[in-house]
Amino acid sequence: MVDSKPLFELSVYKTAFIVFVLYSLSGVVLYADESKLNAKQSKVLKESFSYLESIEPKRIKIDKPTYNKLTQFESIFKFGFSGKKLSRWIQSRIKKYSYGSTGDYIAMYHDDGDVLLGRAFFSLNRLDRVLVLLHEARHADGKNFGHVVCPENFQFLNPRDWKIHPAGKKGCDSVIDGGYGVTAAFLFELGAYGYLNQTEAAHRYNSEISRVIRD
Ligand SMILES: [Zn+2]
Repeated sequence: MVDSKPLFELSVYKTAFIVFVLYSLSGVVLYADESKLNAKQSKVLKESFSYLESIEPKRIKIDKPTYNKLTQFESIFKFGFSGKKLSRWIQSRIKKYSYGSTGDYIAMYHDDGDVLLGRAFFSLNRLDRVLVLLHEARHADGKNFGHVVCPENFQFLNPRDWKIHPAGKKGCDSVIDGGYGVTAAFLFELGAYGYLNQTEAAHRYNSEISRVIRD
């Protein structure tokens, strides 16, 4: 009985130590899986927004009736086409960026404006990075803009990473103004205002729209 007290104390210290080690290890594991952006990654992200903010509409390069018939930007975003406004639109929705494993996706939206960027994001060109951010920002608008499973016979390539094939994966939309609809609307404006030539704008637009499936 006399010896039991120090023994008891020792086991408390032991337990506390083990708990501490486990806690530290779990921290390490978490950190390796998902972390804040490093300086280089933050710079890439900033450059993406600077590029977007440099896009301001001047003169429409396609005929006006065609533009009026096909433009969807204002009806979706509730403001006229403007890179600066679109940048603010994204930044009011995405509050935090982290870096980590994104599996079959280039980026992932978590609740509360938290976006996880995968390695592939940082090797994209600036336009594709903007498209990814725009897409992820739409997820902040709620469950209505969540994805549906693409058909098993979905034949379109993922333009940003061929290894990621959308067939049978939750990478399609059933609404016209979801993540893929907003990027398509933006690409249309880039073509209309001459920031992309019509051929590239149309290919890119069609690619985004291919993810909108409706029965
Ligand atoms: Zn998405």
